[in-house]
Amino acid sequence: MPRVNALAANPLSVDIWFSCSKCKTLTYIKQFEQNLRVCPACNYHGRLRWFERILYLLDLGSFFEQDLWLEAGDRLNFQTSTDTYINKIRDTQYRTSMGDALVTGTATLKGQPLAVAVADFAFMGASMGSVFGEKFVRLVETAIEKNLPLLTISSSGGARMHEGLFSLMQMSKTTAALARLGKARLPHIALLADPCYGGVTASYPMVADVILAEPGAMVGFAGPRVIQQTIRENLPEGFQTAEFLLEHGMIDAVVERKNLPDVLSKLLGILGQGAGQSLGEGAEGNQPETAPEENTGAAVMSGEIRETATKDGYTVKGEVEAGGLSQGQLSAQDMAWERVKLARHPKRLHTQEYFQGLFSHFFELRGDRRFSDDAAIIGGLALFEGRPVVAIGHQKGTDTKENLYRNFGMPRPEGYRKALRLFRLAEKLGLPVLTFIDTPGAFPGLESEERSVAQAIAENLLVMAELATPFIAVIIGEGGSGGALAIGQADRVIMLENSIYSVASPEAAASILWRSSSLAPEAAVSLKITAPELLELGLVDAVVPEPPGGNHTDRSGMLEALKEKLLEDLAELDGIFKDGPVGPAKLVEQRYRKYRSIGTWQEAFLPI
Ligand SMILES: [Zn+2]
Repeated sequence: MPRVNALAANPLSVDIWFSCSKCKTLTYIKQFEQNLRVCPACNYHGRLRWFERILYLLDLGSFFEQDLWLEAGDRLNFQTSTDTYINKIRDTQYRTSMGDALVTGTATLKGQPLAVAVADFAFMGASMGSVFGEKFVRLVETAIEKNLPLLTISSSGGARMHEGLFSLMQMSKTTAALARLGKARLPHIALLADPCYGGVTASYPMVADVILAEPGAMVGFAGPRVIQQTIRENLPEGFQTAEFLLEHGMIDAVVERKNLPDVLSKLLGILGQGAGQSLGEGAEGNQPETAPEENTGAAVMSGEIRETATKDGYTVKGEVEAGGLSQGQLSAQDMAWERVKLARHPKRLHTQEYFQGLFSHFFELRGDRRFSDDAAIIGGLALFEGRPVVAIGHQKGTDTKENLYRNFGMPRPEGYRKALRLFRLAEKLGLPVLTFIDTPGAFPGLESEERSVAQAIAENLLVMAELATPFIAVIIGEGGSGGALAIGQADRVIMLENSIYSVASPEAAASILWRSSSLAPEAAVSLKITAPELLELGLVDAVVPEPPGGNHTDRSGMLEALKEKLLEDLAELDGIFKDGPVGPAKLVEQRYRKYRSIGTWQEAFLPI
C-alpha cells in the first residue's frame, strides 16, 4: 500500500534540523512541523507534500481519493542522452509513493463537503502532463455530479516537457472543464503555493472565482531569471510574490497557512449557504471588525416620505437638524442644498457600515485580475439574511488618512473592472447583486485616462444590461455621474431620502452653465438631484426614508429600514428570476424595457 510509505519517503522528515531556504535559520524539525512547516524566524511557508496539505486542511479521515492508479503514457518515446521518460516516472513513483503529480478526491472541511485537487511539487515539480489533466477533469466531473465546490491547491513548475504538445493541451483541457463547472453554478477556489509558474498558472487557477495565496509564494508565468535575462534589468523587490500579486489586483487575499482552514470554511460557508448549512466555528473570527453603532433612541421610518413638493418649495413635516436648519418652510434651493450637504455629511453611513450592518458574513474579494486593486470600490461575497449575495460599493474614508487611501470614493478604471469581475461571478453562481453608490464621480486623473475609465464604465453598462441575476442598486450618498451609474444599472434603483443623484456635481454643473461653482446651490435645484424629485420623474424606483436630520442620527434605524426594503425587492425579483428556465431571461427583458423607456420627448408637428 504505497500511501503508508509516503511519510517515510519524505526526505525532510528524517532530518533533525531544518535550514530555512530563505533566512537560513535552523529550526528543530519537530518545531518546524508543529508550525505547519512555516519558518518561525521569517514566516517562509515551506513546501508541503500532498498528504501534509490534506492533514493540515481537511477533516481527519474525510479524504476519499479517486483515480489513484492513473499513470503517464509515453506516446513520444521521450528520452534524453541519459534516461527515458518512463524510467523517470518509475523512479519518481518509487521515491514519492505517487502515481503522478496531482492527487484528487472528495473530503470535508469543517464539515463542509468539497472536491479537492492537490499538486505535489515533489513529483517532477508537479508539472502538468496528461495524468494531471485527466485527473483534474475527472475531479471536476465528480464535483458537477455531486454538486460540490472545487478547491485546487497548486504549486508547479508548469507544463511537463516530456509529453510535448500533449502537455500544453492540458491547459485547455483543465480550463474547459472549469467552464462546465461554472455552468453548473459551482464555485472554484484556488490556493497558490510556492512556486507556481508557466502553464499551470496560465490555466485553471487564474480563472478561479476566488484566488488565495500563501505568504511569500512565488507566482508568475515566466520565471524571474528568464525575465531578467530577456529585459536585462533588475526586477523590483518582491516581484512575483503573493503580496506583489495582491497589490497588482491578481489575487483576492494572502492567507497564512494556519488561518487557511478558517478562511476556507468561511468562504465555503457563504458559497454553500443555499439553505440551512451552518458556518464553521472558525468563521466567527472573520466577523466584521466593528459592529454598527447601536442606537435605540427615537424610532423613525414612518414608511412615507416626510415632505411634499409644493409649487414654491418644500413643506417639511419632519425636522432637519444636522444641516443647521430648524423646521418649517424651506425654499426649494435651501431644501436641495440641505440634501447635498446631508448626502456628503462626513458622519453619514458609508458602504462598509452597510456591509457590517446588513450582512452576517462578508468576504472581501480584491483586484481586477489585470492591474491593481482599487480601494475606492469594495466588494465581495456576503450573507444577507442567510442568503449568499455579491455586494459592491464605493467606499469613502472617514478621516483624512482613509480618504486618501480610498481616493475620496473616486474609483479608477480598475475599481470598475473589479466590479465587472464580481458582476460576472454573481451571474455565474446565480447570486443577487447589491450595490451601494456613494461617489463624487470616477477619478478624473491621468492614469484613469491612460487605462480608459470611459471604457471601463461603458463595459459595465453593457454587462449590467444583460446580467442574468437579480440586481438592486442603492444610492446611499452621492450618486456622481457615470462613476455612479457604472455600478448602478439595476432592476431596482433605490435612493435613501437624503441622497443625491446627478449627471454632474452641482459645482461642476454651475461651472459649465454659469462659469461659477459658487452657484452650485442654484444648480442643485435646476438639475433636480434629490431623491423625492427623481422618484417623481420616474428615474429611480423607490425612496427609503431617513431618520430626521440625516441617517447618521440613527444608524441602526437606517440599516433596519434599508434591510426591509431590500428583502421586499429581492423577493419580488426572485419571483421573476426563479420563474422556471425562462426566469433569468425575463428579468433581463424587464430590465431592458425599464431603461428602454427612459427619456423625455414628444412628437413634434413640424410646419410644412
Ligand atoms: Zn526563515
